[in-house]
Formats: sequence, structure tokens, C-alpha cells
Amino acid sequence: KLSNRLEQIHVQIPKGSRLADIGSDHALLPVAAVRSGNVVSAIAGEVNPGPYEAARKQVSDAGLQEKITVRRGDGLDVIEPGEVDVITIAGMGGALIASILDRGLSKLEGVSLLVLQPNVGEDILRRWLLAHNWVVVAEKLLEEDGKIYEIITAMPQASSPIANEEVYKPRPLTNGVELTEEILLRMGPYLVDQPTDVFFAKWESEIVKLQGVVQSIMKSDQESAREKASDVERLIANLKEVLACLP
Ligand code: SAM
Repeated sequence: KLSNRLEQIHVQIPKGSRLADIGSDHALLPVAAVRSGNVVSAIAGEVNPGPYEAARKQVSDAGLQEKITVRRGDGLDVIEPGEVDVITIAGMGGALIASILDRGLSKLEGVSLLVLQPNVGEDILRRWLLAHNWVVVAEKLLEEDGKIYEIITAMPQASSPIANEEVYKPRPLTNGVELTEEILLRMGPYLVDQPTDVFFAKWESEIVKLQGVVQSIMKSDQESAREKASDVERLIANLKEVLACLP
């Protein structure tokens, strides 16, 4: 049985897709997606030998070698252009996911959906998607085993039902506070609209982390460090202001 985190990724994959799961580790997601009938074929990509072997074993134990190919390689190197419709990349930092997409840009042609689950650095990933004409069409926030995860689903601008200009359009909250593009990129343009207890818990803990960043930058007496610290302080103030205005 899939963890809730992987299940929430799984349900984003449209029926009949050809999937590539990059950084697949034990290939749990491709196996579940083939078994559920959501995907007709899958590629499990792994760069590291241990997880690669684990994926191969999982696929052969499941008897699914005909439908799932396990390939060893870095990021999107394991797929040919036009080979898949959906790419999932989960359980890594947002910066690493963005660098995998960036290095594999040519492989993204013909891909209709990205389902991404960054562990940290969600804003870095949203900025990459925005800069490369991918539109976030859905977001999910969940807590499992004391950790909070975001799942970001994106479509190419050309086939998206909504444009990036709409998604990141600044909008007013109460008391003159605004949801700016910067805040939407950080908090998530959909997540911020329906803030749950998990959302507030996440941002309380992010603010504590940012306060720690300010403390550590302040240890340096360089002018540039002080400027950086006041940027982070401004961000913290802005986040707090926004949180106070959300329903
Ligand atoms: N995707 C699974 C999940 O969400 O449960 C596994 C996540 S695991 C924490 C991250 C996996 O990504 C590791 O197995 C690691 O070997 C793999 N990985 C890291 N960088 C990679 C890259 N550039 N290309 C392919 N796999 C990578």
C-alpha cells in the first residue's frame, strides 16, 4: 500500500498515461500506478546503484517487467523525447528537481503533466516552472509522520486551462495587505487560497527557520550580511502580515 504522500501523487496521474518516475527509489509509485491501471507503461529512473537495484527487484517481484522499465541514469537522461506523457519527481529538494528539469529541457517536449513533490525549496521550483512556461494547475499540502509535504502539478502553458498571469496575479487581502507574486511563489497560489491547519503549521515553522537564518547571518559583521538579514526580516514581517489576514 502506498503512503498517503505517494498516493496523493498517484491520483494526479491521468488514466492511460505513460509515466516516468525520476528518482524512483523502490519504484513504489510506478508499480502502484500500473497496478491501478492509471498508467499503461512506466519508466523508473534512478541515478544511484542501490535504489536502482531496489527498483529492479520491486518490479520483477511484482512481475511487471513488461510494463515498467527500470533505467539507470541522471534525471531525464533516462527518457527519449516523446516517450512519456507524465513525469513525477518526488522526495527531493526543489532546487534539485528544478535542476533536473532544466538539464532535461529537451525531454519535456510532448510531456503534458509534471507532478512534483519537493521536500524543501518549493518557491525555487515554482520560479523555475514560471520561467519555463509551465503553469501550476493544482497543489496539495499534506502531513504524514510529522512531516509536511507539498505536491505541485503543472501543465505546459499551451494546454493549461489557466495562464500564469492569472495564477500569480497579485490580489488584495484585508487591511491593505496584498498577496504579491513573491508571496504566491512561496506559499503556493492555490494553497494560500484555502489555508488549512497544516498550512498555518507549516508557515509557523518556516518563520522560525527564517528567524534562525537571520540570527546566523547577523553573526557576520559584513555590510552585505546585514543587508541580507534585513531582507529576510522584511520577508518574515510580510509572511506574518499575510498569515494574520488569511481566513
Ligand atoms: N521518489 C521516491 C519517493 O518520493 O518516495 C524516492 C525519493 S528518494 C528520497 C530520492 C531518490 O532520488 C533517491 O533514490 C536518489 O537516488 C534519487 N536521485 C537523486 N538525484 C537523482 C537524479 N539526478 N536522477 C535520478 N535519481 C536521482
